[in-house]
Amino acid sequence: MGNWVWIPLVLFWTGGFAWAADNVRTALRNRHERKMEMLEAHRQERLALDASNRTPEPVCGCTHHLAKHDKQGRCHERVEIPVAWDENKKPLRFEAGQCNCQQYVGPQPLSTVYADELTDL
Ligand SMILES: [Zn+2]
Ligand SMILES: [Zn+2]
Repeated sequence: MGNWVWIPLVLFWTGGFAWAADNVRTALRNRHERKMEMLEAHRQERLALDASNRTPEPVCGCTHHLAKHDKQGRCHERVEIPVAWDENKKPLRFEAGQCNCQQYVGPQPLSTVYADELTDL
């Protein structure tokens, strides 16, 4: 007996510690990676948000410039309205007309509300 009995114990302990330390390291790394992933996702969202906010031209949903709309939101841009179609539903003849856009000015779309909430995180 004597001191020899300690050797397997010490080996077991150091091995156990190494194993535990390894587990902790892995857990920490995983958490770190998850956090980085979250930050990256958040950054992407922010970039997308910036891009959507940085629309160079104030263009209406009807593709015409907002300046073409009057105070009531009615679009005054001249458009070509198809008046005759061939059998493939392809317009054959056009008539000059006025864009019938009413420039929707109702409640904000859901995506904008979402974006506002995200920036508070
Ligand atoms: Zn419009
Ligand atoms: Zn228009």
